[in-house]
Amino acid sequence: MEKIDKIVIAGGGTAGWMAAAALSKILGPHYCEIELVESEAIGTVGVGEATIPQIGTFNRTLGITEDDFVRETNATFKLGIEFVDWGQLGDRYIHPFGGYGLDMGGVSFHAFYLKNHPKHNHQILEDYSLQAKAARKNRFMRPVNAGNSPLSNIAYAFHFDAGLYAKYLRRLAEERGVTRTEGKIVDIEQDPETGFVTSISLDKGIKVKGDLFIDCTGFRGLLIEQTLKTGFTDWSHWLPCDSAVVAPCKRKGEMLPYTRSTASAAGWQWRIPLQHRVGNGHVYASSFMSDEEALTHFIENLESPPLQDPRVIRFKTGMRKKAWNKNVVALGLSGGFLEPLESTSIHIIQHGIAKLMQMFPDKSFNQVDIDRYNRLTDFENEKIRDFIILHYYATQRTDSDFWNYTKTMEIPEYLAEKINLFKSYGRVFRENEELFNDTSWFAVMLGQNIIPNAYDPVADIFDAEETAKRLQNISETIETASNYMPQHEDFIKENCASD
Ligand code: FAD
Repeated sequence: MEKIDKIVIAGGGTAGWMAAAALSKILGPHYCEIELVESEAIGTVGVGEATIPQIGTFNRTLGITEDDFVRETNATFKLGIEFVDWGQLGDRYIHPFGGYGLDMGGVSFHAFYLKNHPKHNHQILEDYSLQAKAARKNRFMRPVNAGNSPLSNIAYAFHFDAGLYAKYLRRLAEERGVTRTEGKIVDIEQDPETGFVTSISLDKGIKVKGDLFIDCTGFRGLLIEQTLKTGFTDWSHWLPCDSAVVAPCKRKGEMLPYTRSTASAAGWQWRIPLQHRVGNGHVYASSFMSDEEALTHFIENLESPPLQDPRVIRFKTGMRKKAWNKNVVALGLSGGFLEPLESTSIHIIQHGIAKLMQMFPDKSFNQVDIDRYNRLTDFENEKIRDFIILHYYATQRTDSDFWNYTKTMEIPEYLAEKINLFKSYGRVFRENEELFNDTSWFAVMLGQNIIPNAYDPVADIFDAEETAKRLQNISETIETASNYMPQHEDFIKENCASD
């Protein structure tokens, strides 16, 4: 076995600096050299501000103190996502982090909820989620040690300034010995026999050699695609949005502890509150809406004038045929992109880094490890893809060609089975280690008005009166707990305000 002596990270966006910070921390200062190459002239994609709770684990692995992180990145806390106008115009529901209900003696809370509320009501379901309830009241606190109280178990993520996060990670990585080289990659050399990448050349005449290359060059995929011609699996027939117009604005409303996603005639618009501003973007399908229409809709739906000229970002949903090909691992946008509806891209980077550490190569680049890495990456992406498709497919909107297309398109088999299972007895399962758990599937299926034909028969272990009494208790406990939480803005001021 000959160990890797040098890792080269091509690209210094969120993906590049996440990889640099994590690898330098986990491998330590003596294992191998790590060099990151980036070009300020090219810049980064500059969006990516909403996350899911798993980022807390990533930051803890890096030894980042949470208050410090929130302060440094102008972050706010996130308890879930509010979806507006997705099922039908006028609908509002929250997909919360954490679970619904409290312990019901080993039987899923979902079964009792559907027994008691066979027709479902968005607002009543929120009464059983501390995260949703707190989000509606603009409250936040971290979990405390409070026994059986739901306050012991508050799940949350963050909204943050992705540019500041990359800078923060850069500082950490450089402190841990990562070297950074500024310059534009103009050439990539390969071994003529194996096709392995051997070095990258920069416009300044510098040549950077390495054993393992991490491609974080964004949508360009300079190494994984332009050099290795790995191929791309296109998912745009399921996820037809391919453009976003983005710009921040000043916050006029409250610093809400949740992301808002409001559906438009051919896509949706995000509102992500940070401490100092609000991040906004209108994601749309250019085959159903022109850039001019998308921009007009975007501006009309901002709470204040944009702070910069809105810019358009183009993308294609799908993923590389292999995330790891030869001695190149693609992380971030170079590996593929699922649109940002459920804030999963940064998580996918984190997942890639974790799996790379589990299957870290030596210079022989064992193909069995590479195949396993690719299989796990495919699984992660495909399951997230299906969850995102659900939002588009389960709509009742008829007001545009876009929605008429998404609700009648053929969907992946796995998703069709999940929906059928849910339709019959309201059952949802988290399969293997797929990212989204049963709470997420339950929230979005009901949120988009898929109502099961019957409740799970196991819910009959309690009679109707007992079920109603228990549910009443749960909603009262959650109400009391949510009232105990401070206002989101006050919590930040007290603990981790930027200035
Ligand atoms: P980039 O930011 O594009 O970085 C690429 C890097 O490569 C840069 O440093 C660039 O300088 C360098 N580079 C490229 N070519 C060369 C060259 N020739 N020479 C030298 N250097 C080069 N994710 C979330 O988790 N949550 C969200 O809410 C979210 N919202 C998003 C909204 C939109 C519209 C889009 C498009 C993405 C969103 N994402 C979100 C995804 C998120 O932005 C990205 O996953 C994340 O920023 C990682 O990007 P990256 O580092 O892969 O690429």
